[in-house]
Amino acid sequence: MPLRTTFSLRPWRDARVYLRASVLRKLVLLLVLVLPLVWLFAVHKRDQLSEVARDESNRNVKNLAHAFAEEVQSSIVTIDLSLSQLRLSWLRNPEHFGDIVTELNTHLQGRLRINVVVTDVEGRLVFSSIPGAPRHLDLSDREHIATHLQGGRGDRLYIGKPLKGRLSGRWTVQFSRPIIDADGKTVGVIVGGVAPAYFSRFYSTIDLGANASIALVRTDGIVVARTTQDLTMRDSGRLLTGFPYTTVNSTAGGTFHRVSRLDGVERNYGWRALPQYGLLVTVGQSVQDANARYAQQKEVLAMAGLAVSLLLALAGWAALAAADHRRRAVASLAAAEARWKLALNAAGEGVWDYSFGNRMVTLSPSARGIIDAEGTLLPFDRDAFALMSHPEDLAAVLHALDAHLAGHTPDYTAQYRTRLRNGNWRWILARGQVAGRDTGGQPLRIVGTVADIDARKLQEEQIRHLAHHDMLTGLPNRLLLRDRLRQALLAAERAEHRLAVIFFDLDKFKPVNDSYGHAVGDVLLQQVATRLRATLRASDTLARLGGDEFVVLLPRVNGSGDARKVAEDILRELNRPFMTEGFSLNISASLGVAVYPDCAQDADSLLRCADTAMYEAKLQGRGRVAEHADCERIQAGMYKDAA
Ligand code: GH3
Ligand code: MG
Repeated sequence: MPLRTTFSLRPWRDARVYLRASVLRKLVLLLVLVLPLVWLFAVHKRDQLSEVARDESNRNVKNLAHAFAEEVQSSIVTIDLSLSQLRLSWLRNPEHFGDIVTELNTHLQGRLRINVVVTDVEGRLVFSSIPGAPRHLDLSDREHIATHLQGGRGDRLYIGKPLKGRLSGRWTVQFSRPIIDADGKTVGVIVGGVAPAYFSRFYSTIDLGANASIALVRTDGIVVARTTQDLTMRDSGRLLTGFPYTTVNSTAGGTFHRVSRLDGVERNYGWRALPQYGLLVTVGQSVQDANARYAQQKEVLAMAGLAVSLLLALAGWAALAAADHRRRAVASLAAAEARWKLALNAAGEGVWDYSFGNRMVTLSPSARGIIDAEGTLLPFDRDAFALMSHPEDLAAVLHALDAHLAGHTPDYTAQYRTRLRNGNWRWILARGQVAGRDTGGQPLRIVGTVADIDARKLQEEQIRHLAHHDMLTGLPNRLLLRDRLRQALLAAERAEHRLAVIFFDLDKFKPVNDSYGHAVGDVLLQQVATRLRATLRASDTLARLGGDEFVVLLPRVNGSGDARKVAEDILRELNRPFMTEGFSLNISASLGVAVYPDCAQDADSLLRCADTAMYEAKLQGRGRVAEHADCERIQAGMYKDAA
């Protein structure tokens, strides 16, 4: 399975994969924690909007109450002036009083209509502008008439409770003043009745929504006039109690908020007192209408809350799913890493990672151990590489590396010796591959493994040694001798000098075996090898061909004389007794010398030539040297049978 090293942040591409229970659980938890905050904020904002709406509404109703009060006051002044004027006319000219009233109402041009009633001092009706009113009708029981007749108020305007006219059946508000003669005596009462609607006309000028209300109320709570959208006057004469009707003082005005006792609508009210008339006005705007202006904002707020919740859910889901995916990927990556680390460790390999950017190599602990590095993160470059690699191996290693870096080989493999901190060399096998290149194709990173192959190399060396050396004496065997002889012949041919081979066989060796045992024979053979090796030069090769046969290769001689001299030295050494396993053994040897190019030109012929010469020495009685000079006779076939 390939390792996934990239992480998708678009989990919706495969939603099913991400509808994991753990992801959904976390999402629910996240939403439970976050959504209340979102909605708390939304509710707070909505409350703020309600507060703004209430403040604005209060400001409006307060201002309108002020304007309404002004208008009521000016209306009352108009009515009172008219009443004072009429009272004067009544005293001067009662006969034409009806005409004067008519003229007054004409002057008022229908904006205001005043029904005028005059009573005598007994409270009996003496004039009414309403046609058909019965004269002398007793009105003394009416509050506004009685107040004046009892003389308690002096010459002051009195505003009575709204009354439903006995004759007209309509509601009117009674404005009255006493009629006082020249002597200052109250002789009657003049009353101006005005429809409550006159005071409520202000309603049409305000724009406070469908459920607005305005009211003109006496300070004792009696409603003089009240208008809402549907009704005018219905509430005239009703009694309102509580603030502000009972607690009002002379200059008061302000706002209050309540559910109307008259129509059950919740309103913000502005109020203003007209203390000189014992009146106050209220202007009310329903809370619903006040909030209406901000209803849209609240709706937008709610939608925004919903959108944010949805977005949070989506974004949360995406983030959690991505995190989950990442976590799983990292876990699987870690598992994969653990697996390959285990595999590499089991194989005894370490990992290295070289960055060309910062010229640093990162080593796994086993890699560090294998190359005996000081740390796991080291500065590294070509010079450092040259310093730590064996000079004999460096060229081949760099060649392999450069070939891979240049893209000529799919990977880099090299076996070479690396320098340990104690100065020793260790064979290692390094493998690597470029893991990333820049846009120009230059390598950015190379990662690979390193293994300690020192033991293997040693084993190979031993095997190679075994293949080329004699087990008993450790001397080169026939294979190695032949190889060296070929090399020496090439060199001799090139340099045009002579070389010689001395072939010798121990004399009467068999009886040593027979008399002292094979083991003693073996030791004797080893002693022969050791003694002769010490006699010969380092450049000479002493080889054992098998049995008691040996060959000495002298890679450079001046002539057969040199070779004979060496052969005689060997003979002399062999003639000296050997102390073997407590026995003093005397042996000798027969030696045959052949010189290149005098005797033969190739290895086999030369060896054969020396062998034949040796045989001749045996024939001549053993314990002697026979030279290549005898070759002619040999080549003439004289010794054919013997060979
Ligand atoms: P000659 O003088 O004619 O050379 O006679 P020789 O007794 O030396 O006998 P020859 O050279 O014909 O034979 C060599 C003998 O060496 C034969 C064998 O018994 C003995 N031999 C061969 N290989 C070994 C060995 O590895 N160890 C021992 N101990 N003896 C060996
Ligand atoms: Mg022999």
